[in-house]
Amino acid sequence: MSETSTTPVRLTRKPERRTPPGPATGTVPGSGKTACIRTFGCQMNVHDSDRMRRMILDAGYAEVTRYEDADLVILNTCYVRENAVDRVRGHLGELIRLRREGRLKKVALTGCIGAAEESEILRRQFGIDLVLGTHNTYELAEFVGLPTMEETYTPELPGTEGKHSAFVTIMTGCNYGCSYCVVPMVRGRMVCRSKESILSEVDRLVEGGTGYVTLLGQTVDAWRRDGERFCDLLEAVAERAPRVSFTTSHPSNMEDRTLWAIGSRDTIVKRLHLPVQSGSDRMLKIMHRGYKAERYRRKIGVFRDAAPEGTLSTDIIVGHPGETEEDHEATLGLVEDCSFDSAYVFKFSPRDGTEAATLGEPVAPEVSQRRFVEVLRGIEGNAFKRNSRKIGSVEELYVRHGANEDGRAIGETWTGHAVHLKTEANPGEYVRATIESAGPHALYGSLCGSPYGARSPYGDV
Ligand code: SAM
Ligand code: SF4
Repeated sequence: MSETSTTPVRLTRKPERRTPPGPATGTVPGSGKTACIRTFGCQMNVHDSDRMRRMILDAGYAEVTRYEDADLVILNTCYVRENAVDRVRGHLGELIRLRREGRLKKVALTGCIGAAEESEILRRQFGIDLVLGTHNTYELAEFVGLPTMEETYTPELPGTEGKHSAFVTIMTGCNYGCSYCVVPMVRGRMVCRSKESILSEVDRLVEGGTGYVTLLGQTVDAWRRDGERFCDLLEAVAERAPRVSFTTSHPSNMEDRTLWAIGSRDTIVKRLHLPVQSGSDRMLKIMHRGYKAERYRRKIGVFRDAAPEGTLSTDIIVGHPGETEEDHEATLGLVEDCSFDSAYVFKFSPRDGTEAATLGEPVAPEVSQRRFVEVLRGIEGNAFKRNSRKIGSVEELYVRHGANEDGRAIGETWTGHAVHLKTEANPGEYVRATIESAGPHALYGSLCGSPYGARSPYGDV
């Protein structure tokens, strides 16, 4: 891993928060200003949207879900695959029509497309009012009438997924240069946030009732600062928060002691997301991933020893230029050996500015499709077998999503399994359930005993 840069966390003037929305320049609480945020892509974007949501609420806007009810629409975008841009174009077309009809005032484009050169073309074509990249999301504050900010990730602006669980960004950007990936181009080089700032945000969230903290970054396990490494930070967070998870990790940075910490610390969810991308050493080299398949297998072995019941997930790309049938077989072999509990499988999508877009040897679409299905089948077969082993067990669940109209909620075990069950418990509460059946993607259970509130079995929260 190469250098780590750091950025001081500063606000020129701290926005008022934890008070009813507003007042702010140009907006009067109750004045009826409305905003709609649409999020595309990964958890980093979901988290950035949470922070923007706080800004608009603080500025006196009410949040609405339909474009036609909004004065301001913010499209927080993804640029990782080509279809993501096509989708955003479709939304922009609709927004511009609404604006022409006088049903919408302003449109903002943020996130990874905002940081790409293509945003300038979109800005001109659709007359977008504000374009922000991922590095300057904080400029939205000024746009909506709040005091100027100079940094997005501060303890003063904790992003929350909901009151009960929250993301905490520990690093931004990425120092890798994977052949296919636009992230380093749109999110810049790695910047690690200080431990002090991270812990202060965690403390603030836990004091406010958050029961579940997820540490976030493109390569969280690459975090290092002032002589400390990711495992030091994870252990410090695990001391403070009642439930902790993290994503995403890079195999080259994943230390054995982190894997052992996952297994041994009561407050860390026993789940690991470790993208492998391919099982072929030849492809891993072409992709510039920096490890071989055997090293990846060894790390998975350590994780399985440290947390035998834990869940393991990965990302795999099929159809990268140059991928042969032999390479694909190697990926299927790795899928079998690692017995993943789930995976995101992607068909290669050429992205302008990346090395892979200029490589020859494209894989035919029908071949990519077949490989995609074969990898998916391998993953699902193993996941189903592993999930089936949980049938009959009694599990303690953290309710992540409250009941839908059928009365079914989604809980999470300490091993990171998703369990669908009928319960009226609220998100953030713990319940106990018996696992009755399993599918490739989830477990299904029923309550045993009554909900026992927002506390972990390891002590009151
Ligand atoms: N930083 C993480 C890592 O290296 O493992 C992944 C971040 S990336 C936003 C999420 C996933 O998207 C990658 O792991 C990869 O599988 C997939 N991806 C990225 N670029 C892609 C492309 N051009 N075509 C297809 N899939 C891609
Ligand atoms: Fe993209 Fe590779 Fe960085 Fe992940 S590690 S964000 S795939 S460049």
